[in-house]
Parts: sequence; C-alpha cells; structure tokens
Amino acid sequence: MKIERKPHWLRKKANVAEQAPMRRLLGELGLNTVCQQALCPNIAECFGCGQATFLILGRDCTRQCSFCNVEKNRVPQPPDPDEPQRLAEAVRRLALSHVVITSPTRDDLPDGGAAHYAAAVRAVRDISPATTVELLVPDFRGDWSALAAVMAAAPDILAHNLETVPRLYGVRCGADYRRSLELLRRVSEGWPAVPAKSGIMLGLGETEQEVAELLADLRSTGCRYLSIGQYLAPSRRHQPVAAYLPPERFDDLREQALALGFSHVESGPYVRSSYHAAQYRSDRPGS
Ligand code: SF4
Ligand code: SF4
Repeated sequence: MKIERKPHWLRKKANVAEQAPMRRLLGELGLNTVCQQALCPNIAECFGCGQATFLILGRDCTRQCSFCNVEKNRVPQPPDPDEPQRLAEAVRRLALSHVVITSPTRDDLPDGGAAHYAAAVRAVRDISPATTVELLVPDFRGDWSALAAVMAAAPDILAHNLETVPRLYGVRCGADYRRSLELLRRVSEGWPAVPAKSGIMLGLGETEQEVAELLADLRSTGCRYLSIGQYLAPSRRHQPVAAYLPPERFDDLREQALALGFSHVESGPYVRSSYHAAQYRSDRPGS
C-alpha cells in the first residue's frame, strides 16, 4: 500500500529542551510513560506542561497490536510492588490536579494487573487526595472480577479504548469489539458515578458508515467521554496509515458524537486518549 505524505496539519515540531525536566523526574523515579513508549506526537507539549500518562506494570505488553509501539514480550517482568508509591510521588512533585494511568496488557497475570491498578489509585489518593485519577485499562480478557477489583479503588474516570471499527480488529491483537463494549457497559451500569470514556483512531481504512455505527454502539453502552484522533504509524514496521483525515472531518465527528449524547468529545488530528485529559473532568457528575 502506498503511504500518503503527511499533510501540513500533521507536521508538528518537537522541542526537546521543553521535555527535559519531565524526563529527569521520570528517570529519577524509575517510571515509564505511554508518551515515550508510544512515541506520542504531543510529547513536547504535554511534558512541557508537566503532564504525562504513566505506564504501570512495566514496559512490555503480552499482545502484539500492529499499530502500537509499546514493547512486546509474552513473559514480562512481574509487577514492581514499589511502583504505585513512586507514581504517587511523581503526582505530588508535579502537583497534578488530574492523572492518567495506563498499562500494557498483562494477559500473563491471573488478575490482568487489576490489583496493581487499584494499588496505584490508592497510593495517589494517600499522597494527593485532591488529584482526580483516570485509568485507561485493558480488557482483562473479559474477567469482570478483575474489573470490579479496579473499580473498588474508586477511580474518577474509567477509560477503555475501542481503537477502531470491528472490521479492522485484526490490528488489535487478542481484542474483541463486543467484549470491549461490554466492559464499558458494565462500568456505566455498575458504577454510574464514574464516567466511562473511550477513544478511537481514524485513518486505518474505516468507512464513514462504520464510524457512525461505532459511535452509536459506544453511546449505547452509556459511555460518556470520547476521544477521536488520527492514527500515525510509529515506524515503517507498523500498520501503514490508510488515510489522513482533514481537520474538518474531526469537527464533523465531534458534532455527530455530541448529538448522540456524549457529554465531552475531544476530536482532532492530534487528539489522543489522554490529550487534554483534565478537561473532561468538568463534565463529571457532581463536579
Ligand atoms: Fe502523553 Fe497523552 Fe500527552 Fe501523548 S497526549 S504526550 S500520551 S499525555
Ligand atoms: Fe499496545 Fe495495548 Fe495493543 Fe499492548 S494491547 S500492543 S499496549 S495497544
């Protein structure tokens, strides 16, 4: 497949100097971020503002999604019991009002890493009670007791990304569209005070009709928050970009999603699940 040249709206310059203080802090505390692992194009902006999405449970993923740059290893290291405390310390030092925590998928762990997620939430709460905590979780292979263990720690937002339309799920190794919808439905019905959030990428070859159907499916689960961004291939070894969608398409989709009843939608070529994450908080019940 011929890869289109990046259009002008996707030529962001990265300022390395701006990122230095965050990189030093992460190195000092031995923490990983998805910002670095996924080669996120927003890293200069986010690190420059003292924002990051923390990657707990190590750097290695047991799945092999063809679009993702997170390292792959079927037998990763066991969870580091001190990691939640170091993460909480980073939250304190950065004085974060909102923190996003995610992980690689850990199909090797009996609970998929649920206890570690819960420990991370509790550690942040202990050290910085005013910080709101957003978790971006894997599907736990449909182990709903693992999901319940995470929810017992009372995160403020629970996110799980659909990533793409069901026809293209071949790029999402080991995932199942219906199972991901089911996870979001269980969050919305079981913990209605915790908004469910999801994210998708455009540019993998999906049609407009398929995206419209996905939005309707997602909204029918009770999911309230949505991010829509442009897929960018991390390297030539990854899934190629099928199309670069113009900014107007993202604007149209934001309107479409809001009309379906989503209460907050971030949509734009550079939007990622955790991009401007603190802005969703104002739509939380009771906030
Ligand atoms: Fe990190 Fe999210 Fe910002 Fe990307 S958009 S740099 S993943 S915080
Ligand atoms: Fe990347 Fe998540 Fe797929 Fe693992 S499961 S390869 S972290 S997208």
